[in-house]
Amino acid sequence: MDQLIRPIGVVHSDIKQSRDMPLQGVPAVIEIYGEFLEGLRGTEEDTHINVIGWFDRAERGPLVVTPRKIRKINPKLGKRGVFSLRSPVRPNPLSLSVTRLLRVETPLLYVEALDLIDASPIIDIKPYSAGWDAVFWARDKHSCLVAQDAVSEEAFAALTREAYNFHGERCAATAAAARIVYDAAIELESDLRDLTLELPRNADPHLVDSLIGTTRATPGNARLSICGDTREVIISSLGRSISYRLLDILDWDPTRILSSPPETLFERVG
Ligand SMILES: [Zn+2]
Repeated sequence: MDQLIRPIGVVHSDIKQSRDMPLQGVPAVIEIYGEFLEGLRGTEEDTHINVIGWFDRAERGPLVVTPRKIRKINPKLGKRGVFSLRSPVRPNPLSLSVTRLLRVETPLLYVEALDLIDASPIIDIKPYSAGWDAVFWARDKHSCLVAQDAVSEEAFAALTREAYNFHGERCAATAAAARIVYDAAIELESDLRDLTLELPRNADPHLVDSLIGTTRATPGNARLSICGDTREVIISSLGRSISYRLLDILDWDPTRILSSPPETLFERVG
């Protein structure tokens, strides 16, 4: 049974080859073809959209592949079936990306980040609904994201994205949280989603959001508590704890936080 799919548009991106595409995607423009423009009515009201594209240059045969890009942040990840990966390699090479819609200038949609290379066909656009689509407690292979031999820039970028997706702005706190939880996960040899946080009452609210976004610790799952007037963030796993005292970095540029050595960002106390 062959299904007929008519592309509704095309991607314009600075990235021309799949191997050059960063894991987090790049800013892109989606051009919608004239006969489908009526379908955009109302789209400008959405802050985020699901973009369904077609990896038109991807292999379609293999069902088990080595996830090369994800292995940069989790080198322990071995071969996996394509249905457990976002790899372009799959029988029907559809892509699915949630992205922020920056603006609509019909027929163009400007999006914050897309992992489709230049000239990829667009199959569909749907609104993204945080209430329906975001299952905050879901676990997947990203939940064991941080590994000793990870490429740290890739891991920091992935963690900052998670903090940003929860917090809503790319401020210094998203980068600071990425650095702290990465350090804690490595030191405690723990899955990020097993870390327990004790935060001081006067903790920076942006940092609190960002720590929740990266670890999924909440009061309801008993992994987040607010405990008094200390200055430290205490992170624990499996009976071991580390206290972090953040240095004065929350007015820094986030990219500086991501590229600076840990001892310039925080002190480990005790
Ligand atoms: Zn913020």
